[in-house]
Amino acid sequence: DDAAAESLLGEPAVTAQGERIEILINADDPKVLAEVPVANCDGIGLTRTEFLFSDGALPDEQKQFEVYRDLMTWAEGRPVIVRTLDAGGDKPIPGVTVDDESNPFLGLRGVRLSLLKPEVLKLQLRALARAAALGPLKIMIPMVTVPEEVEAVRALLEAALSELTAEGVAHARPQLGMMVEVPAAALTADRFKVDFFSIGSNDLIQYTTACARDNAAVTRLADARNPAVLELIGRTIEAAARMGVEVSLCGDMASDPHHIPALLERGLRRLSVAPAQVGRVKLAVRRYG
Ligand code: PEP
Ligand code: MG
Repeated sequence: DDAAAESLLGEPAVTAQGERIEILINADDPKVLAEVPVANCDGIGLTRTEFLFSDGALPDEQKQFEVYRDLMTWAEGRPVIVRTLDAGGDKPIPGVTVDDESNPFLGLRGVRLSLLKPEVLKLQLRALARAAALGPLKIMIPMVTVPEEVEAVRALLEAALSELTAEGVAHARPQLGMMVEVPAAALTADRFKVDFFSIGSNDLIQYTTACARDNAAVTRLADARNPAVLELIGRTIEAAARMGVEVSLCGDMASDPHHIPALLERGLRRLSVAPAQVGRVKLAVRRYG
């Protein structure tokens, strides 16, 4: 199988019925992209921007812009989804996240934290809007629970765009989408006005099964195949179809070949996977149907 997977790396992912499936990759740290041929994928489905803090402090707008510009250059015109900072929970950042929360996974993380620090978020949105002038960059909001959070981010994005226009700085309006990783969002996806959804199965499984993703004692219960998890994924895919917006899945579930049939069965046609899993996922797609 490893040889078969390897031989599919540069090929498009097509099911046994001939249906084309988009395979995007997750970029946790853009450095890894240097070893990934862009022709192996259909773009970047998730950039986890927490790496920006690896030197301790958040880079300024110009440095951030250069990082995003490098992603656009690498992608050669393919879509690039960049997620706004998802600090908190399993991703604590000293000086940014709250460290005395009794339950960080249910506390100030992702967009909840960003909206408490709008100046940090706006800086990131300005840098992203500038990079959007170079190609199809899409902004994704993590940990969304209610539509008001999307609207608050949209207002900041509008402010950032107006500023850039007034300053005469080159930019473009990026699409705005959200992670579906909180069960409340999965159950009410129709209520959100967004350009796209991406299902975060890691957190969706955690919150649906009430099993902390960092607690090895409950990993058996934190099962992607739990019918409740699959139901929430299925509903999100159906809502996206009704709304006419794109939907992908960027959690670890998409990187596991065993889960590919269940996802394709529910109508998913876009997966974002770990770079090392691209061949194995393409092989699983080829064997489906
Ligand atoms: C997820 O929750 O599935 C996801 C992709 O985001 P992260 O693992 O970064 O929380
Ligand atoms: Mg998540």
